[in-house]
Amino acid sequence: MNCQTDTPLRLLKGVGEVTGNKLAKLGLLTVGDLCGFFPRRYEYRGEVVPLADAEYGVLCSTVLTVCSPTKSGMGASGVRYLKVSACDESGTALLTFFNQPWLEKSLTVGRRFRVWGRVKQNGYSFDINSPELEPYSDTLPPVLPVYPLTRGLTQQLIRRVVPAARPLMASLPDVLSEDIRNKHGLLPHGKAVEAMHFPESREELEKAKHSLAFEELLIFQLAVKSLRQSLIRHTAPEMSFKNTGIGRFFSSLPFSLTSAQQRVCKEVLADLCRDVPMCRMVQGDVGSGKTVIAAAAMLFAVKNGLQCAIMAPTEILAVQHYKTLSAFFEGFGIRLELLTGSTPAAEKRRIKQGLKSGEIDAVAGTNAIIQKGVEYKALGLVITDEQHRFGVLQRASLADKAGGLTPHSLVMSATPIPRSLSLIMYGDVDLSVIDELPPGRQPVLTKCVGEENRAAVYKFLGDQIRRGRQVYIICPLVEDGDDEASDKKSVESYKKSFDKTLPGVRSLCLHGRMKGKEKEAAMRAFADGEADVLISTTVVEVGVNVPNATVMLVENAECFGLSQLHQLRGRVGRGSERSYCILLTEKAGDRLDIMCKTGNGFEIANADLERRGPGDFFGSRQSGDMHFVHADVLDMPLIEETKLLAESLLKAGLDETLQGAVSGFFARLESANIFN
Ligand code: ADP
Ligand code: MG
Repeated sequence: MNCQTDTPLRLLKGVGEVTGNKLAKLGLLTVGDLCGFFPRRYEYRGEVVPLADAEYGVLCSTVLTVCSPTKSGMGASGVRYLKVSACDESGTALLTFFNQPWLEKSLTVGRRFRVWGRVKQNGYSFDINSPELEPYSDTLPPVLPVYPLTRGLTQQLIRRVVPAARPLMASLPDVLSEDIRNKHGLLPHGKAVEAMHFPESREELEKAKHSLAFEELLIFQLAVKSLRQSLIRHTAPEMSFKNTGIGRFFSSLPFSLTSAQQRVCKEVLADLCRDVPMCRMVQGDVGSGKTVIAAAAMLFAVKNGLQCAIMAPTEILAVQHYKTLSAFFEGFGIRLELLTGSTPAAEKRRIKQGLKSGEIDAVAGTNAIIQKGVEYKALGLVITDEQHRFGVLQRASLADKAGGLTPHSLVMSATPIPRSLSLIMYGDVDLSVIDELPPGRQPVLTKCVGEENRAAVYKFLGDQIRRGRQVYIICPLVEDGDDEASDKKSVESYKKSFDKTLPGVRSLCLHGRMKGKEKEAAMRAFADGEADVLISTTVVEVGVNVPNATVMLVENAECFGLSQLHQLRGRVGRGSERSYCILLTEKAGDRLDIMCKTGNGFEIANADLERRGPGDFFGSRQSGDMHFVHADVLDMPLIEETKLLAESLLKAGLDETLQGAVSGFFARLESANIFN
């Protein structure tokens, strides 16, 4: 059959309704979809070793000839088995198959197979249990792709279907010019895609991966940089130091700023006085005091006759910002409002009206505050807090909210990451780092413990609660069964057993499946001391401030990224009392060890980045937002190489193909709904 990009997979031979539906579940509807469905890993079956050289118990490929008739039988537990001897020049192996009676007729003496399995030496011969067999021929593929599949789909099936797309792959149009490809040693796009599915060798596969990663990073950087460039052509609302009373604001604070805070404040206020929109990120560890910087910038903008919006990722955090800022702004005549998804309709209408007329100076909220339908009289500054996401497009969507001018944009992040990575994660932002904590902070005592310590842990919690302290308990799941086949703790059932274990202790649940109002009520009750224990998912991860809470207990701590654990730990140690972080896990090991050794977020971030991918690093919440299929965002040399190329390409002007690729990138981001 002659396949086109839009040929439905259902028309292919061997794809019936059932299989078609399963493929559709993977997003595979057409032959074209198959081109972009990349293998998860590869088996290098062409690298054949003699039996005698096989490493014990490690998957490897051998070529063996059946040298005795099969024997079949039934094991004690009712499992049917099939045994056959097969040999190469270096030795003989006993192959055992379970519940695969149909193999018997092909395992005839003298037939050769390529055998993929774990070879174990057993006296003078070898054992291989449940190997995979391919009838030997010298045209067998040297590298076998392994696809990411859902239940009910086999690798065999997908490997049989994918070749239908092969001619299409080869003819995919190029993204990069021949000149660039030659200079950087890259394969043509179509060739690279084809090689990902049908690699002829390890070398070719590596080259294909490299080529696609290069393209991906280059397009990304082109997109991010052209966005920034277009921003420079925008004009920001005017501000100056005249009559802002910003000095009085600083002297009104109950503390003096650390020198890091002073430096960052200066950088931010200087940006606000330029007519180019600010595009800056403030990075500072948990507790480094980012909020006061936000407050200073907001006050500055409002006193310059402009409006501000501060945006938090969760309602809980938005409410908290609203309260903290209200306190900071007391006596400065700033009309600040709170607007979230659960603000009552009438109230919402009033606030929207006030923002439009200019009666309201500033608004704190979730991203409800920059959505369509919210108009501002003169929006001068947008602050995004704890936004571990691409703020790239979000910023672009602000342009029309300031009467044709583009508001300044400030992003606050508690995740300290290297510059090159922040470029990838957040786009082309200027960076200010608060590299100092306010004086007098006590480190949070941190311990990893196993299940055998549970009783002692609960006794400790009980002691703390009797002393009037409060406790956070974090579980990875909301309800039992949210993650099949795991015994991870869930908030709901944890509460039941916890309440039985510590009767008389007042506990509350908090998780993302609760309604905004319920969440807020629970959080407020905990903050007001009406509950001793808050059993929660990571929704409390960011920003929440309850100074009387002194214990953070994390269940199944191994499920969380280090940076996430560090954020969670940052919820305690906010008052004057000694605070504790207990990581309950059966998999302590050196990954979690660093949590016990240091309280420095930069150190933890670096350790985490080195050890694991950024997907883990940013926790599951963020990894889904990174749209890199091929690129390893920790590949700093490649990031650097593509960054330089992106800069020079932009300087020379993009050709039509690249322009199209960049637009395609934005379209994909938009359809992935990064905005909301
Ligand atoms: P984060 O950077 O995690 O957002 P916050 O802005 O919430 O940190 O600040 C944490 C706490 O430290 C707050 O209670 C805040 O009032 C206080 N704080 C901020 N700056 C200072 C400072 N220079 N000296 C003392 N306390 C400070
Ligand atoms: Mg904060």
